[in-house]
Amino acid sequence: MDLFWHRRDLRVTDNVGLSAAADRGPVVPCFVLDDAVLEHAGPPRVRYLLGSLAELRDAYRERGSDLIVGHGDPAEILPRLANAVDADRVVWNRGYSGLARERDARVEESIAESGGTESLAVETYHDAVLHDPDSIRTNKGDPYSVFTYYWKKWRDREKAAPEPAPSAADLLDAERLQVVVDDVAADLRADDATIAAGTLPTITDLGFAEPAAESIPAGTSGARDRLSSFREEDVFRYETLRDVPAASVTSGLSQDLSFGTIGPREVYAATEDAMARAEAGDADAAVSDLEDADPVSSVTEFRSQLAWREFYLQVLFHNPETVSRNYKTYENPIDWREDPDALAAWKRGETGYPIVDAGMRQLRAEAFMHNRVRMIVASFLTKDLLLDWRAGYAHFREHLRDHDTANDVGGWQWAASTGTDAQPYFRIFNPMTQGERYDPDAEYVTTYVPELRGVDPDLIHSWHELDPERRGSVAPEYPAPIVDHAERREEALATFEAARGEDS
Ligand SMILES: Cc1cc2nc3c(=O)[nH]c(=O)nc-3n(C[C@H](O)[C@H](O)[C@H](O)COP(=O)(O)OP(=O)(O)OC[C@H]3O[C@@H](n4cnc5c(N)ncnc54)[C@H](O)[C@@H]3O)c2cc1C
Repeated sequence: MDLFWHRRDLRVTDNVGLSAAADRGPVVPCFVLDDAVLEHAGPPRVRYLLGSLAELRDAYRERGSDLIVGHGDPAEILPRLANAVDADRVVWNRGYSGLARERDARVEESIAESGGTESLAVETYHDAVLHDPDSIRTNKGDPYSVFTYYWKKWRDREKAAPEPAPSAADLLDAERLQVVVDDVAADLRADDATIAAGTLPTITDLGFAEPAAESIPAGTSGARDRLSSFREEDVFRYETLRDVPAASVTSGLSQDLSFGTIGPREVYAATEDAMARAEAGDADAAVSDLEDADPVSSVTEFRSQLAWREFYLQVLFHNPETVSRNYKTYENPIDWREDPDALAAWKRGETGYPIVDAGMRQLRAEAFMHNRVRMIVASFLTKDLLLDWRAGYAHFREHLRDHDTANDVGGWQWAASTGTDAQPYFRIFNPMTQGERYDPDAEYVTTYVPELRGVDPDLIHSWHELDPERRGSVAPEYPAPIVDHAERREEALATFEAARGEDS
């Protein structure tokens, strides 16, 4: 019998570790709500987690089993569970951040020390990625720090097919599972930990407020709906429109890939079907209104984003300290400012730069932000406000539903010019021209900034140049720019040159 510990793999299909355990059967599935992990989560993520766990539990119930849900330290709960079911193995899929690896080592140690059956072993699998973070290296054997070269190898490697879901016969039935739970629950009470078969706490039970942001359908069913609508049409329009926030052509799968409500092999398999359609000319109708759109290279472009995810994951895997430290070393420390008022205005979406404010308000309203706009708001924080990227990262971590350590750190360090192949420090986004180029009709801006609804897009894009009187007559409720971009650009250049040890 195997005990399977779900973590960032909240699904029964395309789950490498679960499939391996099910091949030996019967499997006892469990999840542990760990306060040390929850401490780093914001309400939108906790809500998505609980919704996804409910669906995972139902997937087991449909198969005559159940999901054991523990709350407490996995190092306390897992050895007891393993002993109670007389497990041969405790199986899980690997996590790659420093925190995940430390925790896993601690749990493994406590299982080894638990004195269960002699043969009790821990087995771990690569599941969250198509290629594990150690498997793609330069010809000299080093980890990659430049995406383009990594991508060439990633793209050409063979990809595994999705794993099937376990059947009822592969799982411990609900009745016997309940006996195990009763047995362990009594024993755990003294340790301030709990377990139950399929009972989930509410978000407030876990000490979080109900998030104000909109929710989306959680779990594998939500993820699959998003994937199937994306593969139908948007994947072919992706290359042309992925930078246009109002077009909403991206997959919307980031929280699913982050929590593992869908497997990367299943997503990749969908791109294989899409590629076959594109190559056969069956996707031309999907792009008939777009000039020069190429469905084949569009599918490839989407695959390259899946590779970016794995690229950043291997960067974090090989450099766990970059979760809080710059990847790139400058001669001198970067002289970030301390400006709580500017930080607060950025968080509220009241900087007087329309595309920045729209992005920050989308984050509050939806717990999500379009990628292009994430780049713009991150550049604004680090270059226009000259505030430390870690302050922006902390805010994103709290508010994004799809927060994912590797991608979030990767995105922030890219914008701050401190990351692997980051934006060079001298290429500073101009928030006004970014808005003009990617949101010409101000459709995205006016969706999230009601004060600017009905205002001519040309005035929105030149808001920083209008005199106060004009601003007051055009949109009296919308703030004036809190900084002058041209001035701040010069200051940012000087700050980075000083960090490089150059005289300004
Ligand atoms: C400052 C900043 C912070 C970010 N924080 C996160 C985060 O916390 N979590 C997160 O998943 N992504 C993050 N990203 C990357 C990207 O913005 C999101 O993955 C994307 O917007 C999610 O939308 P989607 O699923 O529709 O993406 P799609 O365009 O459909 O892409 C498909 C998948 O590829 C991956 N992906 C796409 N773009 C990137 C990228 N630039 N880097 C790495 N992986 C990518 C994601 O897993 C995404 O779901 C961040 C980017 C920046 C600039």
